[in-house]
This record gives sequence, C-alpha cells and structure tokens, in this order.
Amino acid sequence: MHKNEYQSCAILLIMAKAVVHTEIPIATKLKHLYELQLIDSEIDKIKVLKGELPMIVSDLEDEISGLNIRLSKLQNAISDLEKEAGNFKTSAKASEDAIKKYEKQLDGVKNNREFDALTKEINMQRLEIQLFEKRKKEVDEQIKMKKQNLDGIKDRLKLKQAEIEEKKAELEKIIEKTDKEESALRSKSDKSRKKIEARLLHAYDTIRKRYRNGLSVVTVKRNACGGCFNQIPPQMQLEIGLNKKIIACEHCGRVLVDELILSIEE
Ligand SMILES: [Zn+2]
Repeated sequence: MHKNEYQSCAILLIMAKAVVHTEIPIATKLKHLYELQLIDSEIDKIKVLKGELPMIVSDLEDEISGLNIRLSKLQNAISDLEKEAGNFKTSAKASEDAIKKYEKQLDGVKNNREFDALTKEINMQRLEIQLFEKRKKEVDEQIKMKKQNLDGIKDRLKLKQAEIEEKKAELEKIIEKTDKEESALRSKSDKSRKKIEARLLHAYDTIRKRYRNGLSVVTVKRNACGGCFNQIPPQMQLEIGLNKKIIACEHCGRVLVDELILSIEE
C-alpha cells in the first residue's frame, strides 16, 4: 500500500469513528466541512496574493538599484572619455599654434639648414595633429556607443520604476483591503470550526497541511476529483451524491462532497 493511501485510510478510519458517536447527520457534517474549506480557501487566496507581491516588489527594487549602479558607472566612464577627447582637442590646438609660429619664423630664415629644421618641425606637428584627431574620433565613437547604452538603461529604469510604483500601490491596496477581510474570515473560520467535531477537524487539518493548495474537501467536477483531477468511478460518484458516508478520494485522500452539498437543509 502506498504511504498516501495508507494515511488516507487512517484518516478515513478516524472519520468513521467520529461519525459513529454522534447524532448529527453525515450530510450536515459534510456541509460544515465544505463550508470551512471554502472559508479557509479564501484566507489562502489572500495569503497567496500577499505572498507574491512583496517578492515582486523586492525583486524590482534589486533590479532598479542594479540599473542605477550601471547608470552611474556609465556616466562616469562617459565624462572620463569626454575629458580625454577635450585633451586631444587642446593638444591639436597647441600643435596648430606651434605651426603658425614656425611658419612666421620661416619668413625670416637665413639659410637652408634653418629652413629644413623648421619645415621638419612643421611636418612633425602636422603628423601630431593627425594622430590627435584620429584618437579623438575613436574616443568620440566610444562616447557615442556608451551614450546609446545609457539611453537603453534609462528607458529600462523608467519602465521598472513605473512597474514598481504600480506593484507597491497594488500591495498597499491589498493590505488595506485584506486586513479587514482576513480577520473577518478568520473569525468566520473559527466559528465554522466549532460546528465540527474534533476528530473530523483533525483529519481536515491533516489533509489540508499535506497539500500546498490547502484543499482538504473538494467537489467532484466532470467526473474527477476536484483536488487531484483523477477520475472517480461512477459507483463512488453515486455514493457521494447520497451524502450518507464520508468518502475520500482514493488517489489523494481528500474528502469528496457533492456539488450541491451547500444547498442541503440542516
Ligand atoms: Zn483526489
């Protein structure tokens, strides 16, 4: 026997025992159990809503702070490159001034040697200017690329900031709304529990804890268990419809109730 099945049987036994010792009709017990399930499921829904949003908000906060770090790094890199480009420009200007000076000196040269020396100097400065211009172009290209990158990050930041504001507002709204709703549901759940005998409640809680969706009592939907979606044999469905016995799904151990259970008279 599978462990789950064994546990289900044990729970069923507990339920059966509980049934024997009381006067309350089984149908009413099933109804009370299902009512409790519906209330508890509403509480679960609120938990899920709250449980996801704070995580989404904190993930967004992390992403935004990461983007801000990248943004300021890029801005620093760009301003460094702009300084570098400025230096090349200044150097080129200095070379141009030097050339002008040498050209003026050329007017007053006395011999070939002086002329050659000045010409050589002027050519060298021209080469320097070419080099500065080439390097400035390279730096300008880098600046352009980094600025494009920066724009991309700014766009993404805008998007994420809008998203986080939306999620924060959503979360606040939920907290504001659900605080009241949740406490109301909790007192409703407590009241509902009082109608159910201890052994049955224990079984209910045990099954509920076993499953992440917190479903312990489910209806049969389209011939299948509303908890695990395995098919329920026709004979069993018939018995469920009679509300004469507490019947558990043979696959998941959840208590199966008729879809019309809430409309029965107590
Ligand atoms: Zn099932």
